[in-house]
Amino acid sequence: MPGITGKLVRISGPMIAADGMLGVTMGEIVKVGKMGLMGEVIRIDGDIIFAQVYEDTSGMYLGEPVEAQGLPLSIDLGPGLLGQTYDGIQRPLIDLQKSSGDFIGRGLTAAPLDTERKWAFTPKVSVGDDVQGGDVLGSVPETEHLDHFIMVPPLVSGKIKSVAAAGEYTINDEIATLEDGTSLTMVHPWPVKRSRPSRRKLPSNTPFITGQRVLDMLFPVALGGSAIVPGGFGAGKTVVEQQISKFCNADIIIYVGCGERGNEMADVLDEFPELTDPKTGGPLMNRTVLVVNTSNMPVAAREASVYTGMTLAEYYRDMGYSVAMMADSSSRWAEALREISSRLEEMPGEEGYPTYLSARIAEFYERTGRVECLGSDVAEGEEPRSGSLTIVGAVSPPGGDFSEPVTQNSMRVAGGLWALDSALAYSRHYPSVNWNMSYSLYFHDLDDWFKENAPKGWTERRQEAVDLLQKDAELQEIVQLVGPDALQEQERLVLELSRMIKEVFLQQNAFSDDDAYSSLEKTGGLLDALMSFYDECHVALGQGVELMTILDDPIKEAISRLREVNSEGFTSKKDVVMDDMKSAIQKLVQAAE
Ligand code: ADP
Ligand code: MG
Repeated sequence: MPGITGKLVRISGPMIAADGMLGVTMGEIVKVGKMGLMGEVIRIDGDIIFAQVYEDTSGMYLGEPVEAQGLPLSIDLGPGLLGQTYDGIQRPLIDLQKSSGDFIGRGLTAAPLDTERKWAFTPKVSVGDDVQGGDVLGSVPETEHLDHFIMVPPLVSGKIKSVAAAGEYTINDEIATLEDGTSLTMVHPWPVKRSRPSRRKLPSNTPFITGQRVLDMLFPVALGGSAIVPGGFGAGKTVVEQQISKFCNADIIIYVGCGERGNEMADVLDEFPELTDPKTGGPLMNRTVLVVNTSNMPVAAREASVYTGMTLAEYYRDMGYSVAMMADSSSRWAEALREISSRLEEMPGEEGYPTYLSARIAEFYERTGRVECLGSDVAEGEEPRSGSLTIVGAVSPPGGDFSEPVTQNSMRVAGGLWALDSALAYSRHYPSVNWNMSYSLYFHDLDDWFKENAPKGWTERRQEAVDLLQKDAELQEIVQLVGPDALQEQERLVLELSRMIKEVFLQQNAFSDDDAYSSLEKTGGLLDALMSFYDECHVALGQGVELMTILDDPIKEAISRLREVNSEGFTSKKDVVMDDMKSAIQKLVQAAE
């Protein structure tokens, strides 16, 4: 309850206890000490509350006041979120940096959204309309390319008594009132740990396209699905997350960064604003919200940041957008849970993580999905609005050992596993996605979509490539045991073509202008080119051509170079190379005869 004030009786790093707090509820926000640092109640014991504080507690005295705020940790949702960089409790980092320098002082706050900026509001409801949570009151152009729909907050409903005329308003101006006296503005708060409601979940039958060949072809995830990217230090998790942010088919990107190295978050803050949006040519930040933890923020803020990111993502999903949330790395969040739990002296579970770790991870991934958006404003004959929230969660297992609890618990709930392999990264095979360990549970749901929309032969070629790589793995074992001389020509062909698939198709350089992004057309076409080459070689060997002569022919190089052909205009270049390939092999066959 607001107004209850007690006294600090214990300070243990980011954990405090206060007595005289009867009536305070779990999850409630408290202002701690004379500095008024924000904290969250995580245990209640009689009239004593325990709270995790989002800022450094050093210098605080026992006996200082602790004041309950009456509300759980909430963030403000309204126009102006896009392009922002927040910390875990939605403090605008760039604004704070401007006002206080690189080290953001304790207890500082700033409005998360610009309260002076005017937005051009176009109303969509009329006086007398019955509205419910989720109904669209009107819209404002948040950016040049994206309309922000102003919705009735989820738990509110009533009859419209007044609505603002089209015009310019700030987020705090009243834009509508209900007959019961409720006043609505363009902004509303939402408690971050509670998932925002929707009408129902929808089947996930469209793919989340990443522009990364190995993912889109071999391990595709659905829009509204989830994938985890576990990988040791330096395996390429951050590069994968950034590549996907840039090229995926989501409308909105929420990037939650919990830095692993000291300067990593500084890098994100420098680099992200420089990224260009391939869809518009403008800055990618125009459809991105960054949530980052700076190194001087304690664990509690890290714990909060994933929920803040998730709530931002759900908010845009509710407008009918597809949203992709990147969490890099979710292990830092789990470690924050562990640290807080140990300060609470809870019974530790596996590797010191709290026993509720698996439940927390499951709750987190359960907030993904494709949904029919909340609201009753469906026009006759129209489909209800739908939106999706897809999560890609990086996981950093210590020592790259995937048997540890965070990786294991995340694997249990995520629908896709994109396992990064340090050995591949070490040999500079990027993205270092291990094709034997990774998997997707979405094939069945996405089959129809790929059949209808992907280049012809997509699923067949995929199966052939998977079979070839499988055979390759078996042959490699034989080579290990008895050496390469034991192999037949056809078997050597399998090894050679598998090598080409790995180098040309599975590898993709994030820093190449022409290959950082691979459209479905290029992805499907490139694999088709490689498999056609295999088919032709296979026949040619049967007609007496020696494998060495095929491999020495310049056509092999020409096919490999297709990787560096831009997605635009790929097919016509590929067709030329394929014609050359067929005639080159024909010549070799004739020569052999
Ligand atoms: P992690 O986040 O797993 O610690 P990073 O994503 O920072 O690892 O990757 C480490 C380095 O590996 C990068 O700086 C880059 O040089 C290289 N790398 C990773 N992925 C790719 C890629 N797809 N293309 C080219 N280089 C890559
Ligand atoms: Mg990283």
